[in-house]
Amino acid sequence: MTSRRTRARLVELLRAQGIRSGVVLDIMQDVPRHLFIDEALASRAYENTALPIGFGQTISSPYIVARMTEVLLQRGPLGRVLEIGTGSGYQTAILARVAESVYTIERIEALLTRARWRFHKMHLRNITTRHGDGSAGWLEAAPFDGIIAAASPAEIPASFLEQLAIGGRLVMPIGVDAQRLLSITRSEDGYIQEELEAVSFVPMLSGDR
Ligand code: SAH
Repeated sequence: MTSRRTRARLVELLRAQGIRSGVVLDIMQDVPRHLFIDEALASRAYENTALPIGFGQTISSPYIVARMTEVLLQRGPLGRVLEIGTGSGYQTAILARVAESVYTIERIEALLTRARWRFHKMHLRNITTRHGDGSAGWLEAAPFDGIIAAASPAEIPASFLEQLAIGGRLVMPIGVDAQRLLSITRSEDGYIQEELEAVSFVPMLSGDR
C-alpha cells in the first residue's frame, strides 16, 4: 500500500489532473503521506482525497497540496514561507522541500503536537511551528516569499497581504459556502489577484484550543 507503484499511480493521476511541475511531482512521489494519517486509514493514504485527522479537520487531498505548491513556486525560488493551518503537517513537509524555511501556525494544539513529532522523526529542520490563531500572520518572521492557507476565511486577512515580500505570492481559499482558490502576487505598486478554481477547505476559525 505504501509501495513505489502505489505512489507512482498517484503521481500519474496528479499529472492527468493538470499538475505540470516536475519538481512538485517528484516531491509528491517522495513524501510518505501515510505517515501523516492514523494507521487505521493508512491504506487510503495514496488515494487522491482528503481524509479525517481528528478534531473535525482533514489532511488536504494530494491534488490540492500539489496545486498550491506549484502555484507558489511559479513566482520563483522560495526563501521564507508562511503556512496557516498545519493540520497533519503534510503540506508543511512538502513546503520544507521547496523553501529555505517554513513557518507554520495551527490553532489546535493536539494536531500541532503530532505534526511536530513527525517533523522531528523525518529530520525536517527548516520548520518553525507556532500554536495559535494564524489570522494575524507571523509578524516577527515577515516578509514572506510565499504564504499558504489551508483553511478558508470570509475575507482575506490584511496581515497576509502586509506580510508578503515584494514579488511574494499568497495562495489561499476564500469564501464560506462557495470557496475559490486565489493567487495574489505583490508587486512594487500593488497586488495582482487571480482566481484559480473552485475548492473545498475547512473554515478558518479564530482563537485557539
Ligand atoms: N495542510 C493541512 C490541512 C489541515 S486542515 C494538512 O494537509 O493536513 C486546515 C487546518 O487549519 C486545521 O488543522 C485547522 O485547525 C487549521 N486552522 C483553521 N483556522 C485556523 C487559524 N485561524 N489559525 C491556524 N490554524 C487554523
